[in-house]
Amino acid sequence: MNPDKLEPWQLPEAQWRAIVERVRAGRSLRPTQWKDGARCAVALSFDSDHETNELRDGGESVSKLSQGQYGNRQGVPRILEVLARHGVKASFFVPAVTALLYPDEQRRVIAEGHEIGVHGWIHERNSVLPREAERELQLRSAETLERICGVRPVGIRTPSWDFSPNTLAITREMGLMYDSSLMADVDCYELLLEGEPTGVVELPVEWIRDDAVYFNMNRFAGLRPHMPPADVFDIFKREFDCAYREGGLFQLTMHPHISGYRSRIWILEELIRYARSHDGVWFATHAEVVRHAKAHC
Ligand SMILES: [Zn+2]
Repeated sequence: MNPDKLEPWQLPEAQWRAIVERVRAGRSLRPTQWKDGARCAVALSFDSDHETNELRDGGESVSKLSQGQYGNRQGVPRILEVLARHGVKASFFVPAVTALLYPDEQRRVIAEGHEIGVHGWIHERNSVLPREAERELQLRSAETLERICGVRPVGIRTPSWDFSPNTLAITREMGLMYDSSLMADVDCYELLLEGEPTGVVELPVEWIRDDAVYFNMNRFAGLRPHMPPADVFDIFKREFDCAYREGGLFQLTMHPHISGYRSRIWILEELIRYARSHDGVWFATHAEVVRHAKAHC
């Protein structure tokens, strides 16, 4: 304990304001309409964490690593088949270690017309890293993905959506077009760094629209999946319904090693079918959504 450290309720106004101002939402980038006059944009994303969650935690559990490998052997192929069947393009956020373990998977994702974005080196937690380590890992991750995929990533989703006070400056320095890790809105917005516009666009996520929240499980702790798949579908569907009504953006995060199961993969397919049953729905990658929002705001 640092005896000189002030308790939160003792902080002077300038100090709590400075904390809040580090990284904030700036101007909204909500277009009046989407591509070709579409009413609603649907941006599906898949975080191909595979073995990296276990490795990040310093774990060496053969059992948990095998669950990660399922993401490559069964999860990604099932997802790609659904997307291909419906002609939908999506975004995959891939830790560099996943890409090194499974380069062919990444090349298939790119060959089938999807986007690959940065998702850390080994799914590290940015907020516990010294600035230089975070910067070096983020740069190395983008270079590794580019080398394997042949395409330079234009977006980043930080692992576990964890964000240090340095993350945004590093993202801007790398020239990335967008981040997709923060939650200040349902529409795209420009990120501010200490009150100044950065030019980096946020395509916001939310735990509500993330399969891991509902399905995660830990054998040796109290964590169990607490939602039947039909209820998870219902939440995602209601998020889409409201986005459609508002003429906004429906963004979703899924994980191949979590949703790529026989009893769950239908959620993705049914959501696509349901969205498709509406007029004026534009399915796009995160990069396409951000480019459109930037050009029309
Ligand atoms: Zn992840």
